[in-house]
Amino acid sequence: MFRALVVEKDEAGETRAAVQELDESLLPEGNVTVRVEYSTLNYKDGLCLGSGGGLVKVWPHVPGIDFAGVVEASEDARFAPGDRVVLTGWRVGEIRWGGYATKARVKADWLVKLPDGLSARAAMAVGTAGLTAMLAILALEDHGLAPAQGEVLVTGATGGVGSVATALLSAGGYEVAAVTGTPGSEDYLHGLGARRIVPRADLAETVKRPLETETWAGCIDAVGGAMLARILGQMKYGASVAAVGLAGGAALPATVIPFILRGVNLLGIDSVMRPMADRERAWSRIASDLPMDRLEAMIRPAGLADLPALGEAILKGGVQGRVVVDVNA
Ligand code: NDP
Repeated sequence: MFRALVVEKDEAGETRAAVQELDESLLPEGNVTVRVEYSTLNYKDGLCLGSGGGLVKVWPHVPGIDFAGVVEASEDARFAPGDRVVLTGWRVGEIRWGGYATKARVKADWLVKLPDGLSARAAMAVGTAGLTAMLAILALEDHGLAPAQGEVLVTGATGGVGSVATALLSAGGYEVAAVTGTPGSEDYLHGLGARRIVPRADLAETVKRPLETETWAGCIDAVGGAMLARILGQMKYGASVAAVGLAGGAALPATVIPFILRGVNLLGIDSVMRPMADRERAWSRIASDLPMDRLEAMIRPAGLADLPALGEAILKGGVQGRVVVDVNA
């Protein structure tokens, strides 16, 4: 038997999530069984804890797009019992049962061995959100970003991606300008290493002039929409924006002027289907670069039973930092 947070859908289409004891025979197909220790909460988990947001196709469903733990059994030569592993993405927790459980069964192809020095708990404080932040930084650096070039803008800064991006950039010697619409979050963001706070309202207006003063050497954007369109016109010559999310909207009401007159680059970041080599590179940089004291400051501990309420909160932008779920709590 194992414990899991199971979402069920009734005939009226209403969903309800509750912790249940399940028989191991119900675990999905896969060649590695993992004893899950920690999971976390991302925006997508918020969707999967409720109506499914179009991501979940079959109920009953066990959400949790990320987990970390220890291999219990493996039919794949790359993994042996006792190996410490992390899983993010691959649509686990969406179309397959995920990490809100004490056991998970998955394909070996989806697992990354945890780098030395990174605990399962720390890996889940990072999670998909933090991995995505790291992938965004690597993309910006691969396109020439370096600390001497000036301020790097992070939008949705109090959120999961934004918090880890702020901490990682600042630890890497970058000057971070953090965009937030959360009142009273200044101390939190300065604690993560942000040098300057930019009120969300300053970037809320739609593009009036396609080019504004060249201000940002790079940007990690979790918001999209009108804010991203506005930021494109404020980038320095040849600078890049890593587009990560759509917390503010999926439409991009922009002009091509920043691309063709300032050589601005818009880099798309996907973490879900990301090839293994990129994942291993990112986890290794996280283990070496992320200051654990700052990571600790972002953590909000939770158990499986807390997740339905937290899932509703994250969909309303009401979760600061990173929720770390002890699935045994
Ligand atoms: P969170 O909900 O933790 O953070 C989003 C933050 O964006 C909020 O905390 C808030 O920060 C800000 N925000 C919320 N609503 C608005 C709005 N209407 N306008 C402007 N800012 C807003 O989510 P995550 O950090 O986990 O994810 C951020 C985005 O990235 C999501 O869209 C998510 O789907 C996407 N994502 C994409 C991934 C990929 O592989 N590409 C992987 C992970 C996430 P503040 O109050 O500080 O402004």
